[in-house]
Amino acid sequence: MSKVLFAIFGNPVSHSKSPLMHNLSFQGLDFDGCYARYLLEDGEKLRETFFSLSLKGINITVPHKEHAYNACDVLDPFAKKVGAVNTIVEKEGKLYGYNTDAPGFLKAISEFENIKTVLFLGAGGTAKSTSVILKEEGYDVTILNRSESRLTYFKENGFQTYTFDDFKPRSYDLVINMTSAGLEDDSLPCPSQILEQVIPTAKACVDVIYGKETPFLKLAKTYKKPTKDGSDMLLYQGIIAFEYFTEHTYTFEEIKEHMQQAFIL
Ligand code: NDP
Repeated sequence: MSKVLFAIFGNPVSHSKSPLMHNLSFQGLDFDGCYARYLLEDGEKLRETFFSLSLKGINITVPHKEHAYNACDVLDPFAKKVGAVNTIVEKEGKLYGYNTDAPGFLKAISEFENIKTVLFLGAGGTAKSTSVILKEEGYDVTILNRSESRLTYFKENGFQTYTFDDFKPRSYDLVINMTSAGLEDDSLPCPSQILEQVIPTAKACVDVIYGKETPFLKLAKTYKKPTKDGSDMLLYQGIIAFEYFTEHTYTFEEIKEHMQQAFIL
């Protein structure tokens, strides 16, 4: 049998850790697969590109998660609900779409105990899928965003929402940076006066950005709060995607043993 082919589609895609994560797992588990990266410029061409490359599965990153959603024949109910797909698997000529970002995120924050109330800083695509899964799991999630326009989806789905101007803080167990502030600059996700109100009463602070300590996490540490960056979210979404790619042949822990090596190389 020839190698089973996988890839990540995105733009940009050169920075992605996914090829290393998945190839280490194929190698470690003795699965005859190969995972590449593909710079997809036109999201409308996702489906035809997938088939032209004879792929078995893909992950999809910025800015194509909605295109990926539209490209699928069959959608997992959660992916359907949040309108974003980051994992596609081909079975008998049909494309099956899943969202593994949200369950990956849920698992990443599960180490923090006795969490009921959560404040999201940011209302982009990642906040959408992760807020819905947290709500389904019984967390009380509030969304605070710089611009009003992105809050519509959250209002329609029953979340308490604020902009910086009308924010009425209360105590939150977990404060999470869901924005890209701090990714390529040194900015905080919201005015420091707001952070100085919500961080002191939080049990922990989390950032979805990985690979660097953001100004938000630096500030949280000055209050001696437990912190966590986005590395585990990235690892766990990858493990769950790998489970779909290999049709649940391996357990989560078996995959983790190999995939986590990508974070120490
Ligand atoms: P989007 O582009 O969909 O949304 C960006 C959000 O960030 C918006 O709410 C935007 O607010 C806000 N924002 C951007 N810059 C600032 C700023 N300087 N100050 C305040 N708010 C700002 O992004 P995504 O949801 O796709 O990604 C968000 C983050 O999540 C990224 O940093 C990404 O790297 C990370 N991520 C991590 C993953 C992981 O596995 N760890 C997986 C996926 C994403 P506004 O509406 O006002 O513009």
